[in-house]
Amino acid sequence: MTESNHFYETFQPSHYDLYLDINRGTKLISGKTTITGNASQTAIALHQKFLDVSAVEADGAAVDFKLDQSAEAIRINLKQAGETRLTVTYTAPLTDSMMGIYPSYYEVNGEKKQIIGTQFETTFARQAFPSIDEPEAKATFDLAIKFDEHPGETIISNMPEVRTEDGVHYFDTTMKMSTYLIAFAFGELQSKQTKTKSGVTVGVFGTKAHKANELNFALDIAKRSIEFYEDFYQTPYPLPHSWQLALPDFSAGAMENWGLVTYREAYLLLDPDNTSLEMKQQVATVIAHELAHQWFGDLVTMKWWDDLWLNESFANMMEYVAIDAIQPDWHIWELFQTSEAPMALNRDATDGVQSVHVQVEDPAEIDALFDSAIVYAKGARMLVMVRSLLGDDALRKGLKKYFEAHQYGNATGADLWSALGAASNLDIGAIMNSWLEQPGYPVVDAQIVNGQLTLKQHQFFIGDGKDAGRQWQIPLNSNDSQAPAIFKDKQISLGQYDDVRSRLGEPFRANVGNNSHFIVRYDETLLNDILAHLDDFDAITQLQLMQDLRLLAEGQQISYASVVPLLKRFADSNAAVVITALYTLANNFKKFVSPDSTEEKHLQQLFDQLSAAQVKRLGWLPVAGESIDDQLSRPMILSAALYAQNEDAIAAAHQIFQDNQAKLATLSADIRGLILSNEVKHYGSAKLYDQLLADYQSTADGSYKANIRAALTSTPDVDLIAKTIGEFENADIVKPQDLRGWFRGVLANPKGEQAAWDWLRTDWQWLEDTVGGDMEFSTYITVTAGIFKTADRLVEFKTFFEPKINTPGLTREITMDIKVIESRVALIEAEQNAVNQAVADEVK
Ligand SMILES: [Zn+2]
Repeated sequence: MTESNHFYETFQPSHYDLYLDINRGTKLISGKTTITGNASQTAIALHQKFLDVSAVEADGAAVDFKLDQSAEAIRINLKQAGETRLTVTYTAPLTDSMMGIYPSYYEVNGEKKQIIGTQFETTFARQAFPSIDEPEAKATFDLAIKFDEHPGETIISNMPEVRTEDGVHYFDTTMKMSTYLIAFAFGELQSKQTKTKSGVTVGVFGTKAHKANELNFALDIAKRSIEFYEDFYQTPYPLPHSWQLALPDFSAGAMENWGLVTYREAYLLLDPDNTSLEMKQQVATVIAHELAHQWFGDLVTMKWWDDLWLNESFANMMEYVAIDAIQPDWHIWELFQTSEAPMALNRDATDGVQSVHVQVEDPAEIDALFDSAIVYAKGARMLVMVRSLLGDDALRKGLKKYFEAHQYGNATGADLWSALGAASNLDIGAIMNSWLEQPGYPVVDAQIVNGQLTLKQHQFFIGDGKDAGRQWQIPLNSNDSQAPAIFKDKQISLGQYDDVRSRLGEPFRANVGNNSHFIVRYDETLLNDILAHLDDFDAITQLQLMQDLRLLAEGQQISYASVVPLLKRFADSNAAVVITALYTLANNFKKFVSPDSTEEKHLQQLFDQLSAAQVKRLGWLPVAGESIDDQLSRPMILSAALYAQNEDAIAAAHQIFQDNQAKLATLSADIRGLILSNEVKHYGSAKLYDQLLADYQSTADGSYKANIRAALTSTPDVDLIAKTIGEFENADIVKPQDLRGWFRGVLANPKGEQAAWDWLRTDWQWLEDTVGGDMEFSTYITVTAGIFKTADRLVEFKTFFEPKINTPGLTREITMDIKVIESRVALIEAEQNAVNQAVADEVK
């Protein structure tokens, strides 16, 4: 499709009257949509998908229409162009696809219940009502909803309900907004509400399967996030309320519908008395992300989906800005460094990756845009670069202008750069375009050449990559104040190295703070200088060193074997970010060993040596008043000790299990997952399996569910693995939204890999029917490629997926994932012996 195929060009809606009658019993939606707007020509089109349209009227008179399924359209021929009132009468199915209007299933005290909710992003509003389903087509909406209602049910939407008449719920007219942000839900809901300082009503809603106190944490974070944004953006929250709703079936993490944000239960509700700090941080950042969108995305919306990054990158940065402001003791930017930064750097190193800004038209391709590593993580890193170039004062001034100029309308990336440029007198657009429009990122070679300290940039690849001569405008952030702020040439010299070194009085470094999207390869002299002063550096610098070495080793630019002797230097750090980076690096050595081999024994010994002192220092159970770093480090340390097969660790975990056998859910959430997995691996039985699976089904605690899933999928018992796979398609046990986690768990288990892979291939059609068309679908391919490491698996992977390479929305993923496995296989082949020898030498 070309630009001219946007339906908005034929018809510009200004107002919708939506009437929906939803029957859960018959699974049928009856609807009548009246759209007022301007027809710029007589041949117009509205979006629809799966609608059974019985009549179309224009200004009260029946008109000819034709359904065009391939274009997801109703084509209408009007008698005349100009101001027109269209009325479409239709029915639609209520399906279990987690798209459009759909049911969520859950149980309370053994009784099966459902909540009806919506998911309209990206192009699913057209499954609920005919519309110009494009972000630019902003209009006001009046919703009227009837359903097979029984006493005790609640209905909520973007705006407050104004009246109920004859069982029809009428909602207040919305602001001008895009179709993909419309939302409503009904069922037996509980809620807690509060008000912000400025008077916005904030509420958290969930099913009654949850304890009331599980709503508290989200309510507090949501309230304080909105207060933060009102101040930071200098722009009031634009609606009367902000509802947060947890849905039992939900495909993505959360969705920023204006005034009614929907979430996966695990990303909103939590037990305030027993949830790991890591999970609390994750939930808080998800909430802050969605609420950032209420302005950036909802009040001002991207003009078209090619600027999706504008929404997501920005919200992904702001979630950290907001949480850092309202919960400073968490040092939440450290989470950015341990999660977003490596995610972006890993994915963006594979040739064929998408750029942040991508031209896109086809609906299936629009869904494929949601590459979390690129559009979210890399995009957020880009905006972090912008923020550090601008400073917060100019950023806020620019944003205020941007909201003022585009509120209730649309904008492009260029509009944002011009607002920020005007506020800062910097040509932000020129700097950012090299990052936005080009895929990949540079490695900067820092070398001493003929006595000169020289920097060169070229594209970094993991696996085969074609060097297209790309160059970036790199915010260098060097500790040498005489180095340029922006490094945009292919190569520069910073002068005589001896002079630079004595001027600095410390080792030369680039990308201080690890906030620019590039890595550095120091030559031997420079690296040794840094290593000699390692203890002088802060935790982020230490993390960064391990991160860059890991990536360079993955890209075969240095040898993994050369990294082995460095690991112990970081092992006793008290900083959680250093421990995270250490084990991220160390876990990469696992791919070089096969199960039950001598090489694996050596690696386990290394893990034992790395973790031993820390296990002793931290102990197994959380200690009141301990530092946040210790809380976050403990699970990683204990996990290392368990991988090491340390007998004391296995016994200690077993003891904790036995002491708490009757109340497993109350085990400290920080270590509960490890205790359960250890028990299943070393003391497992069919009885334990059944007990945990029953707990899985009955608990409403998302963290506990995730712990049980991880434990059950790690069983070495092949019969239990077969039983687990047998439940994959049983939605009463494994909800489709959670299936990928179950699948990945079994696939990552050496005893389960074959069975999980066989299931995926055999039941691919079932998977496509169940979650196909959903933006999560392609990630089944991603997680598979994340595990495979042998030449045989590579061949099987290609045999199975290559014939599917032209499936809309899967093309890029399949192409990239073949490269991902190829490069891993090649790396193992090239490095295995040297790495394993280095590990053996290290543990002697
Ligand atoms: Zn988002």
